[in-house]
Amino acid sequence: MRIGLTGTPGVGKTTVASILSEHFTIIDLVELAEERGFLGPTSAEFEAREVDIEALSSALAHEWNGPPEKITIIEGHLSHYLPCDMVIVLRCEPKTLRSRLSKRNYPDWKITDNVEWELMGGPWNESDSSGTPWIEFDTTDEIASKISDRIIKTIERGAKGTESSSVLDWAEEFGDL
Ligand code: ADP
Ligand code: MG
Repeated sequence: MRIGLTGTPGVGKTTVASILSEHFTIIDLVELAEERGFLGPTSAEFEAREVDIEALSSALAHEWNGPPEKITIIEGHLSHYLPCDMVIVLRCEPKTLRSRLSKRNYPDWKITDNVEWELMGGPWNESDSSGTPWIEFDTTDEIASKISDRIIKTIERGAKGTESSSVLDWAEEFGDL
């Protein structure tokens, strides 16, 4: 099984992935893109190197036609575009996210862009109807080790995707950020 671990920057993907690495193979999506030649030059707009996610995803669709040796988690905020068997979406209440991102060396506009993206639903905006289960976890008030325990249980037992009616909605906080 391959699992995409996604979420707006700052929600805690890398932190959770490092704990999960005791149990599963973890792949960093940016490293994977670089290895396969799908990482572009630094974009002036985003001040980051851009992943050609569609090309990477099609390349992997051929390569990943059988299961991996060990359960594999691909970590990165675009991992929900990859041909995975399950998508884990981490979420974080926008004000808390802002405070987490403020510890990064990001310009203000980049922090605001990410906080707004999360406010609007984050990766859920990019979900398709492929039938792959998408399962959401809220990282706002729970420590990373607890979240990783819950992810392990979900992977071991299997789970239905989060119903759209229970997907976290921070929209009430709009204007309050
Ligand atoms: P991402 O990889 O999604 O961008 P990180 O794992 O780098 O996020 O975490 C962003 C920041 O939030 C870090 O400072 C990290 O220590 C903190 N953090 C991560 N997970 C949690 C959590 N569950 N509770 C509180 N703080 C967290
Ligand atoms: Mg990260």
